Amino acid sequence: RKAEEEARRGLPARTRDGHEVEIGANVNRPDQVAVALSQGAESVGLMRTEFLFLERGDAPGEDEQYETYRGMLTALEGRPLIVRALDIGGDKQVPHLQLPHEENPFLGVRGARLLLRRPDLLETQLRALYRAAKDGGALSIMFPMITALGEVQALRAACERVRAELDAPAVPLGIMVEVPAAAIQADVLARHVDFFSIGTNDLTQYALAIDRQHPELAAEADSLHPAVLRLIRLTVEGAERHGRWVGVCGGIAGDPFGAALLTGLGVRELSMTPRDIPAVKDRLRGSDLSALKESAQRALECETADAVRALDGGEA
Ligand code: PEP
Ligand code: MG
Repeated sequence: RKAEEEARRGLPARTRDGHEVEIGANVNRPDQVAVALSQGAESVGLMRTEFLFLERGDAPGEDEQYETYRGMLTALEGRPLIVRALDIGGDKQVPHLQLPHEENPFLGVRGARLLLRRPDLLETQLRALYRAAKDGGALSIMFPMITALGEVQALRAACERVRAELDAPAVPLGIMVEVPAAAIQADVLARHVDFFSIGTNDLTQYALAIDRQHPELAAEADSLHPAVLRLIRLTVEGAERHGRWVGVCGGIAGDPFGAALLTGLGVRELSMTPRDIPAVKDRLRGSDLSALKESAQRALECETADAVRALDGGEA
């Protein structure tokens, strides 16, 4: 029975009517890749590089970062890796970067905003990434906390400059959709990126105006709130208009019902904590895309998050 279960983990997340969803893992370190693969991960859909900067007294240099990214690609043996550029600010503070105090860090200099103000951090990370890309493997780079087209253009230009300097191969460049403005303007942004990955943790926080860490309110920050689902649908529509794919790397991707709804909304890749993978794969393998689409349509029309959750079980 154990052998049977392990074999099942390795099967693709293909619905009964033949639609396949890519299942990625959220993994930050090369030594965690093997565990993710044993749970059935097909890729790493989110490597949070903040972890390289935390719990230490200084920032990692180019060589150290390069070794880590190369280690991830080596451990993945050709499977895709999406590295997210540094997302500091908000709930992720790093004392040694000596960033100014902000009254409201979630609405402040965070993610892409910080990268564009600190070319030292951006250049070092991009150089390490493009050096790793030169060694082979399937690397993609994505940028966090994107709000405006100008940020995308500036970051792409920085990538191209570093790539050319190193004579490295081009790699797919994507953005996190985690601010409502990016979801609403997805059709505009899609022209300028290769893919979107929706960060539902932050998208929910910013759409519902609930601090994701708030001790009293966080439980109400439900990523299945119909308002959040409508933003996800807008993102997919905007992406599809330009032939781009959309993934989700926030926590709801690892919830079996959430994964089913996201698939019905047109999301093509789900990246999650490794231990969530087997149950998500089982759920999708027992579903029909046609039923998931109907269920997603019903969810979009729901009045409340509770009403969305009440649809669980009705679609498969
Ligand atoms: C998210 O916001 O959903 C996300 C995946 O990024 P993080 O949790 O690292 O902010
Ligand atoms: Mg986020």
